[in-house]
Amino acid sequence: MSSSVTAVRGMNDVYGQDALLFDQLEQTTKHLLRQYGYHHVRLPIVEKTALFSRAIGEVTDIVEKEMYTFADRNGDSLTLRPEGTAGCVRAMLENQWLNQNIHKVFYLGPMFRHERPQKGRYRQFYQCGVEAYGLAGADIEAELILLSARLWRALGIEATLLINSLGTAASRLAYREALVAYFSAHFDQLDEDSKHRLTRNPLRILDSKNPDLHELIANAPQLSEWLDAESQAHFNGLLARLDAAGLAYRIEPRLVRGLDYYNHTVFEWVTDALGSQGTICAGGRYDGLVEQLGGKPTPAVGFALGLERVTALMQQLTAPQQQQADVCLVVAGEQAEIHAPKLLEDLRSACPSLAFWHIHGGGSFKSQFRKADKSGARWALVIGEDEYAKASVSIKWLREVREQTSLAWTDLPEWLHRQAHA
Ligand code: ATP
Ligand code: MG
Repeated sequence: MSSSVTAVRGMNDVYGQDALLFDQLEQTTKHLLRQYGYHHVRLPIVEKTALFSRAIGEVTDIVEKEMYTFADRNGDSLTLRPEGTAGCVRAMLENQWLNQNIHKVFYLGPMFRHERPQKGRYRQFYQCGVEAYGLAGADIEAELILLSARLWRALGIEATLLINSLGTAASRLAYREALVAYFSAHFDQLDEDSKHRLTRNPLRILDSKNPDLHELIANAPQLSEWLDAESQAHFNGLLARLDAAGLAYRIEPRLVRGLDYYNHTVFEWVTDALGSQGTICAGGRYDGLVEQLGGKPTPAVGFALGLERVTALMQQLTAPQQQQADVCLVVAGEQAEIHAPKLLEDLRSACPSLAFWHIHGGGSFKSQFRKADKSGARWALVIGEDEYAKASVSIKWLREVREQTSLAWTDLPEWLHRQAHA
């Protein structure tokens, strides 16, 4: 027997209840984002490699070791997108969205990172990214945070908001020196990754996932002490708006995020209900990125939420569910069988809110009823030779003890409507 081909490690098939939860999350998110005036955009999954190394930063986990990069047949280096912001900025510039009054956008889709697969961390995972361009104030940051809070409420999820300010590039530079001095004094306590980062990208050390470094990082100098007046005022403006809206947050002085392009506000929504992969949504301001990618200086801010982690939380809140029928058609006799697809088409047109399932392949009444029962349907519509000759239908209740009834075919849509909305 030849062995079967399996999926790529860390890349999952989504089906059954998980697929239903993904749909529910995507629909709720899309509806909510349209309410706030965000435009849905669909962006390529593959971009030129240079886009990511320029945007994300050469000395980051993503660019150093997590990208799926390959040569196109003509030799160009391409990469499966590890995140959505870089491609979104590229699209914004290339299509001149700001000239078309498109400032606020969102996208949904798969991202790819060659990480060590574990619960909540996969090599293909889905994100919803939300980005706003050309808006420099704290009001857009407040809006992004409040809309994410509204999403958790809509889903019944509880999460904690962590927030910090990275300040301006200038204030970060001063802080960087203090950080290098501190970690250099404790050089022998650093792991290999952090030693490598010390001179090239010391802020990244604060984002280390190595528990051995937690204490050292906890005692490191805090960025807030290096914030200049402008940065402090911007941050206070955001906090005042969140306070006014009654939204609770925790200022987390060591929150730096894993990508290089952030400045001023950064935030994460975290939960302790998922074990160690507890960040369900993360983002911040990235005012320098548009210029870095060749555009005019343009303020920008956004966040991405991880759909797997959010659906995992949704799963904890809901009873197992599966896709079900409302109505099944059970037929016997050649004429009824030939007309069954047409009868079902008419019913789907007449009652679009109900799910009509065909019991494919016919078989005995007994086996058709068994399948109808398994489908979860409330009613089986039975058309045997007699019913077909009289253009009628027998209705059998599958979930309730109620007497079977008979109806003229033409009265059926109205009857179903009435029952469904009773
Ligand atoms: P983490 O600190 O968990 O590695 P990150 O800082 O790399 O996250 P971002 O790049 O900001 O995360 O992505 C935003 C969100 O996307 C995360 O908060 C998380 O919910 C989700 N996410 C990121 N990487 C993965 C992954 N490999 N598998 C599943 N979800 C992920
Ligand atoms: Mg990561």
